[in-house]
Amino acid sequence: LSAGRALLVGLLAVLTAGAQPPRPRPAWTHDGIVMAGNWEPLTFLRRRGGQTAASLEDWKLERTAAVARQLKDAGVNLVVTNFHKGFGLQAEAEDIEAARRFVEYAHRQGLRVGGYIGASMMAETFFAEEPQAPDWRQVDERGQPIFYLDAGQTFRFMACRNHPGYHGFLDKLIHLGVETMKFDLLHFDQMESWTEPNVCRCRYCRAQFREFLRAKYTAAGLRARFGFARLDDVEPPPMAPLIAAGAGEVVNPLMQDWVEFRAAGYAQRYGEYDALLGRLNPQVALAGNPNLDLALNKATRNAADPARLLQHGDFVWSEEPQQASWTADGRLVSKIRSYKLVRRMGQSLFTYTGGRYGTANPESPAHLRLAEAMAYNDMNLGMVGDVTPQGIALTPEARRYIAFFHAHRSVLRGTRALADVAVLRSFASVEFNPAAGLVGATLFEQSLIQARVPFDIVLDSDLPGLDRYQVLVVANQDALSDAQVAAIARFVERGGGLVVTGDSSVLTEWRLRRRRAGLAELAGRDLPSAVPLRREAGRGRVAYIPRIVPAVEPPEPRINYRFDSRCWKLAVNHRELLEAVEWAARGNLRVRVEAPPSVTMEFAGQAATDTLLLHLVNFDFRHPVRNAAVTVALPAGMALQAIAVESPDRDGRETLAGKVERGQIRFQVPHLDTYSLITIQLQRI
Ligand SMILES: [Zn+2]
Repeated sequence: LSAGRALLVGLLAVLTAGAQPPRPRPAWTHDGIVMAGNWEPLTFLRRRGGQTAASLEDWKLERTAAVARQLKDAGVNLVVTNFHKGFGLQAEAEDIEAARRFVEYAHRQGLRVGGYIGASMMAETFFAEEPQAPDWRQVDERGQPIFYLDAGQTFRFMACRNHPGYHGFLDKLIHLGVETMKFDLLHFDQMESWTEPNVCRCRYCRAQFREFLRAKYTAAGLRARFGFARLDDVEPPPMAPLIAAGAGEVVNPLMQDWVEFRAAGYAQRYGEYDALLGRLNPQVALAGNPNLDLALNKATRNAADPARLLQHGDFVWSEEPQQASWTADGRLVSKIRSYKLVRRMGQSLFTYTGGRYGTANPESPAHLRLAEAMAYNDMNLGMVGDVTPQGIALTPEARRYIAFFHAHRSVLRGTRALADVAVLRSFASVEFNPAAGLVGATLFEQSLIQARVPFDIVLDSDLPGLDRYQVLVVANQDALSDAQVAAIARFVERGGGLVVTGDSSVLTEWRLRRRRAGLAELAGRDLPSAVPLRREAGRGRVAYIPRIVPAVEPPEPRINYRFDSRCWKLAVNHRELLEAVEWAARGNLRVRVEAPPSVTMEFAGQAATDTLLLHLVNFDFRHPVRNAAVTVALPAGMALQAIAVESPDRDGRETLAGKVERGQIRFQVPHLDTYSLITIQLQRI
């Protein structure tokens, strides 16, 4: 391809995006996943350095028929192994051949195998095999190539996914992975960019950015947005100076659109890999690693926007450091947010629930992380360990949890989380002013997690579909569009409850200050206000809280923001937040569990069998909880048949006596060590 022709192909890909209908998903991805991994090729271990002296021997042993059998015996049913790291198909040929043989061994045991595809290019071997590849490198605003992040790995250049040449190479890998390797899943690492200034501005990114703007706006829209309509000389805006200056907010409209373009581009490329996989073999699943982390404004930082990315694929990775634990100063650390969001979007999350990553913390043992995944993920226990020459190393507790998971697959399969409350994370608020939007949403979510209020995290595009919730929480979401404000008003008009805090809706989605806050009419007064408010509006209710008072001072406002578990202590006015939700819901929250704030719950329903599932997780696992009182609303047209509790922490299935009074089922859970699964069997009347 000539450069000009390649540019055209790239532009065409942008213009025709979104035309493909979503492909059918492979059913096995929702049938129960227990994953182990060994995705680094031997070539990489050697070139990186720091491997063990026995790595050659171990690496080969990990890919034998005996290990496939041992993994199966341990309850593992998916292995993610090496496919192409980035050295070139010839340079990695021996590694790839070992992986291909392992796929055969694993398939004989009934295991599924995923193939890892990295997005860095190892110059020393790859460029000789792919002479065009130096042009596929990501380049920063000064035209300098962008390395892999690790300072010790500067032999790795990052490839630009928007470059048609690299895209063509990935197409070749996808064909090979499906047709020759017989993988059941392809895993794309680095489905995210680095942070500014290490963000690609190659000629394809620049041209596609202009096309993105042309597609997004009319000529009049461009003038309204930028003051002019001519895009020919518009370039991706340098953002590093603003970040270095310590700014806390993205006001510049071109910078806002650059963030959106980058996120849209990653999602679009991911959708193209998905479409090709679906055409080649619809039983092959797609996983990506955007390194999802809801403690960060990931679209601005890393071009990762779950709203867009999760339109495609089956699994996403989170390597977020929030390993389940209960800290000495009373903070509950969890990945509950990520699990909830991904599950609501129809996928499940890969996390490290065991293995070499994140196991150093004795406050976060594998069985607690497995308990969290069992409760909040959809039929996926994550990566339970590394593949070793002996198969896999698991603690006795982890073995019990994996066995429990397999024994209860029919109960856990095909369920849906049941939530009464939706917490909004608006893109223009969380991404462009994270010290307000990200902090507000996170602290409110933390209160709901620790008070065991059933909630979902919702995004901008979910606002028209709020009717399944009783309450919407808009916590310091300062930038909302007119359409979003109108959708919220309709929700309240039809009887929904609304809890608003702080500066919510004072800006438009372009972050332009409104004459009057968008939600002022619903509140019946100007916002923000120093005075709390509760009022009936239409058939619904509106509560306003002037401020969520953090117990730990959040970091200074910054464009690249992190609001992690160090700050997740319950807000000082935690009770005020909860009381507003209760009031807005008219006291109709469908489940209540009386337990310490170290206990969380997830509530779900299996419609096919009329069963309700209550998962309880005790993050303070050293202190068992006794006689937790539970109240569950009995759904209309249903009668209670039986309640039972089971746990991997103890043997047997215990029947619980439940009473039904005024439409409420009441019972007590006698023991909660780390995890209990309560099933409430109903029957139709
Ligand atoms: Zn590029």
